[in-house]
Amino acid sequence: MTYAANEKRYEIMKYNRTGNSGLLLPAISLGLWHNFGGVDTYENGRAMLRKAFDLGITHFDLANNYGPPPGSAEEMFGRMLASDFKPYRDEMIISTKAGYGMWSGPYGDWGSKKYMIASLDQSLKRMGLDYVDIFYSHRPDPNTPLEETMGALDQVVRQGKALYVGISNYSDEQTAEAVKILNNLGTPLLIHQPSYSMLNRWIEDGLQDVLEQNGIGSIAFCPLQQGLLTNKYLGGVPDNSRAAKPTGALHKNQVTEAVLRKVEKLNDIAAQRGQSLAQMALAWVLRDGKVTSALIGASRVEQIEDNVAALYNLHFSTDELAKIDEILNS
Ligand code: NDP
Repeated sequence: MTYAANEKRYEIMKYNRTGNSGLLLPAISLGLWHNFGGVDTYENGRAMLRKAFDLGITHFDLANNYGPPPGSAEEMFGRMLASDFKPYRDEMIISTKAGYGMWSGPYGDWGSKKYMIASLDQSLKRMGLDYVDIFYSHRPDPNTPLEETMGALDQVVRQGKALYVGISNYSDEQTAEAVKILNNLGTPLLIHQPSYSMLNRWIEDGLQDVLEQNGIGSIAFCPLQQGLLTNKYLGGVPDNSRAAKPTGALHKNQVTEAVLRKVEKLNDIAAQRGQSLAQMALAWVLRDGKVTSALIGASRVEQIEDNVAALYNLHFSTDELAKIDEILNS
């Protein structure tokens, strides 16, 4: 059936300014790392994309290597864009990245200009796009001068292949350096994409300060710690969960007793707030306005609905925050 987007979609979502830029991002964005690859069911991915857009999620995050196999998430997304979202391209923020192994030989990985430029050209082809909204360096490359990797980001903007640039998985010091280089080139850094969740708070130790001082946005990936910060593992590992799948990046041995003890207590606090644990975990990431967008993944439509409903209660009392800290530090 032809897709027509929900006319009320912009009344549901909250949009946050990305640093000092002109770009607003939805408080919740959808990533296509899992569940949109060649090994996954096309119609399930398509239903999730439609539901996300209907709920006001305008931002879709990809990378050259998402699948499996690598490249297949961009291909699948490209098919969905062509069949369902063509009329909505100007209402969408589409990002992709290069930085991990993509093709064999010395030019298919890391951060050289040779790799970054070729990779974006391939990504655009797979998605059937003329440009992406955000192009990222997916990880810092210890063997390539930062000037070269940032030079590649600057170049794609000048060529009209990307509107904005981002970096992902860079430390606070590497970020400060990247900001300087990009400012000198005249292509300011829009956004950083770090991992961040209640179980992974490394960005509070320096990176958030660098981003704030320089007016740069941030989009937190794995805010649900790949599903650990939901109630799904409390009764064991369900068959259809990421930890049970051979292609999932969450392994059964990461679902430990120690983590589950914390999750159980967090689940009680969420219930007292009238939220699912997933909703509380997303609200927590967004709690102080430092994170522009929480970048979720999903394996089914209902999860996207559950997660967007986090927006109904983003407020935490001082007491709730203290109790959460106590659990996390225990
Ligand atoms: P999350 O931490 O949000 O985990 C998503 C998983 O949690 C889902 O696939 C699902 O797993 C489960 N889940 C989601 N919502 C619910 C819910 N309401 N109730 C119960 N379970 C739920 O994020 P991801 O790990 O998927 O990462 C999100 C995105 O971040 C990626 O798609 C990618 O775009 C980006 N990313 C970026 C990286 C980088 O280096 N820049 C690295 C990793 C991710 P299940 O299958 O068990 O149902």
